[in-house]
Amino acid sequence: MLSSIVLGGALALALAVGYAFGKKTSAKKTEAVKPYAGRYVFCPGCANQLVEKDVEGKLRKTCESCGFVHWNNPLPVAVILIPHRDGGFVFVKRKKNPRAGYFALPGGFVDPFESALAGAIREAKEETGLDIEIDRLLFTSSPPGVNEVLLFFLAKTVYEQPVAGDDAELCVVSSLNSLPGEVAFQTHRQAIIDYMHGIPPRVN
Ligand SMILES: [Zn+2]
Repeated sequence: MLSSIVLGGALALALAVGYAFGKKTSAKKTEAVKPYAGRYVFCPGCANQLVEKDVEGKLRKTCESCGFVHWNNPLPVAVILIPHRDGGFVFVKRKKNPRAGYFALPGGFVDPFESALAGAIREAKEETGLDIEIDRLLFTSSPPGVNEVLLFFLAKTVYEQPVAGDDAELCVVSSLNSLPGEVAFQTHRQAIIDYMHGIPPRVN
């Protein structure tokens, strides 16, 4: 009896593992029809179940009741390089995932109907307590596999000390090489290096 329970458990586990593998395989199939990667199941307009349809040459989730199309456009993210009077830049130690515990430039998603410029100023304030002025746009980046457009802004040099906001474990003023930890994102590291080498604005 006991052995049959154990055996049954093992079978259930094997089935569960097989199911998990099956899910992974189907996820890979979905990747083949990028850029669709949305997780909507129901229409946000009328709550009808969404179905995948070819719309303008790409597989997208659509609502057959009201015509809603989930375009799944990349989200704009404002990231700010803030030089500090003491030398170096303002970094935040991330409190939340992705990359919790790593250091990053301040930044975040642009709010609805907000300009990227206003978003940069707001995010800097929220994460570091600093009132910044934007000097210029450094460059944009769309990292592979990430459905975001990163807009890197350069702030004018600040004189006040940053104070960590809710999303940050702490704020530090540091050069790239003296950071007491790793940089969370390669794009942030590259932005700093490009700026320090005087590389002109670029889009990629
Ligand atoms: Zn609908």
